[in-house]
Amino acid sequence: MRKISISISLFFIFALSSVAQSYNKYFTGKACRIDFQFCGNSTSTAAFLDKIKEEPFWGGRRSNLTADLNLGEYRFQVADSTTSKLIYIDGFSTLYFEWQTSDEAKHVSKSFEQSVQFPFPKNAVKVTIEKRLDFDKWETLLQFGFSPDDKLIRRNKPESVAVKEIFKTVSPEKGVDIAVIAEGYTSDGMSKFYDDAQKLAESLFTHEPFARYKNRINVYAVAAPSENSGISTPHENRWKNTALGSHFYTFYEPRYLTSPNVFRIRDFAAAVPYDAIYVLANTSTYGGGGIYNFYALASADSKRAQSQVVVHEFGHSFAGLGDEYFKEDPDVLDDMYDTKTEPWEPNLTSLVRFETKWKNDLPQGTTIPTKVNNETKKLKIGVFEGGGYLTKGMYRSAYDCRMRTNEAPAFCAVCEKTVERMILFLTE
Ligand SMILES: [Zn+2]
Repeated sequence: MRKISISISLFFIFALSSVAQSYNKYFTGKACRIDFQFCGNSTSTAAFLDKIKEEPFWGGRRSNLTADLNLGEYRFQVADSTTSKLIYIDGFSTLYFEWQTSDEAKHVSKSFEQSVQFPFPKNAVKVTIEKRLDFDKWETLLQFGFSPDDKLIRRNKPESVAVKEIFKTVSPEKGVDIAVIAEGYTSDGMSKFYDDAQKLAESLFTHEPFARYKNRINVYAVAAPSENSGISTPHENRWKNTALGSHFYTFYEPRYLTSPNVFRIRDFAAAVPYDAIYVLANTSTYGGGGIYNFYALASADSKRAQSQVVVHEFGHSFAGLGDEYFKEDPDVLDDMYDTKTEPWEPNLTSLVRFETKWKNDLPQGTTIPTKVNNETKKLKIGVFEGGGYLTKGMYRSAYDCRMRTNEAPAFCAVCEKTVERMILFLTE
């Protein structure tokens, strides 16, 4: 036994030092932020570089740098310019992509802010931004190279803003770091913001797997001050001057609360090391949104299912989970998903490539699809038709889940496993 434990320790020391070497060979401890614009309409997309920034803290992963989880509508790759070797890859989704499925996108072309970040490189790199065409097919939208000593890389200090550690258990290199940013709080209202950020953290920790991995998670409150208190509600003709310019009525949907000011959000997030961004909106109106590797946004004071919404939106933004709900009217089909291809979201399947999803986790004898009855409703895992806003042709992993209703007590088994995978991916 002793021998085994020694060889395991040696293996870990070797694995850890090789990970550190790989990180240290290519990257500094700072972050590189790429700002660009997505431009287009319902049928076309282009991406244009806006600026490159060096930010003080890299809070993201230091291992698994070239591992691809195949999440998001888009991804970016960073290659060493001299050797063309891939040194970093990550997926992400965008508000732009959602807008493309709206009616407005059929009639007008628009631009949307987008940012990605990776550890700041030591040598010249080439960055490629790609759009997903299918489950495993990609199209290049933008490619450019830069040298880390380029004088026009912005190196100004981040916003001088008060920051409070709400929950700190581990060093940023080893933890999942969540930047909670104030939106719609005036300078005088920051003690309420800190209380609200504390409640947000507690909501996450009421859910597995966040509860059991609590000691790998840090939560910071970034006190971005707003001129006005509260959030804009354009459908009620009320606009406010807030730090991040967020508003309800996104794409003309009353409850959809988002901010188009991605660069501004990142400017505030840069005050702390971060893996994930949560914008906390000072309003009692029910609403929110969450987009993978982009940000989550939720109301701070909603009486209705506030903690459930907080966790649901983070399921989208942190782990890339899809919505498991659908419209009850079978004639209504949404444009978000094409059932002829496999969606990338880990908790949805069109059965086109089910083997890449939870097929291997199904207990023997599970019927596909799983019929809904009092017995199957209790199943931990199954293949239930309806999900991703579609009643037909799209399947979810459980009868109910945090990603389907506010009444569900927890994530389903597939969603919980997906969130766990992400926590491990970022921290091991
Ligand atoms: Zn689920």
